[in-house]
Amino acid sequence: MEEQIYLNGAYIPRTNANISIMDRGFLFGDGVYELIPLYGKKIFLLDKHLKRLKNSLNLVGMENSDFDINNIEGIIKTLVDKNKYEDYFFYIHITRGVQNTRQHIYPEKIKPTVLIMGENYPVFNKDEIAKGFTASMQSDFRWTKSNIKSISLLGSVLLKNYASQNGFYETLLIRDNKLTEGSASNVFIVKDNKIFTPKLSVDLLPGVTRDLLINLLRENGLDVFEKDVTESDLKIADEVWCCSSTNFVVPIIQIDDITINNGIVGNIALRVYDLVRNFISAY
Ligand code: PLP
Repeated sequence: MEEQIYLNGAYIPRTNANISIMDRGFLFGDGVYELIPLYGKKIFLLDKHLKRLKNSLNLVGMENSDFDINNIEGIIKTLVDKNKYEDYFFYIHITRGVQNTRQHIYPEKIKPTVLIMGENYPVFNKDEIAKGFTASMQSDFRWTKSNIKSISLLGSVLLKNYASQNGFYETLLIRDNKLTEGSASNVFIVKDNKIFTPKLSVDLLPGVTRDLLINLLRENGLDVFEKDVTESDLKIADEVWCCSSTNFVVPIIQIDDITINNGIVGNIALRVYDLVRNFISAY
């Protein structure tokens, strides 16, 4: 049977799923999203993802939309049963909805478009993690509401493609001489066994994985500081790693032409990998 997705109340094959050209998500990128992992058929950290989704909806004035985000759990469970997913990811996409004319101003009452579908993103195994990855440093030219998980991702798309077209895994973003995040990840650095990650602000997404890593590291007796990380901190770090829901630790061993830790993945990054793997196994 063809893979089923959820669109506006119906479970349908992915290839039959269509939306109107008048959808504000299509015309304006007007909407928000989430990406939630599924490990061994269990939805990972659902509460944290729903909390962030609620916050994103509030921040774009969609808090009164008539889709109840508490339905997401049931929808995902139905998709897991229908498609027999075990380890997978769920993409949740909520746009402001369809309007008759293309205009910036949206009506007070508008029905959101809700898409929920499984996606099979590549997950690195421990051997790949242990080899490390490369990154480029670029100016963060995105907007200053990067705390919203907005579907308007053109900035991130350009920055991530800059990386891939130039042989890097990720682009690390600098604004006002400070690290914000990666094009699709949060970033941690290690210096003298102390761990730093940029503090939350409008310049970065409050990553669910970022939060998990901070908690796991602290529970295991490591010092984690949420504070500004400058461009030069990044360049002289002992370790740098990116994190996201798809790959919870991606060690960076080279940033442009600067080698980090002699090109060797650091022990703390490897420890984080094991800590998260154990957490997932026990979840
Ligand atoms: N920052 C950006 C810009 C992202 O796109 C993502 C994930 O897609 C993250 C951070 C990491 O967020 P999370 O750990 O919740 O997946």
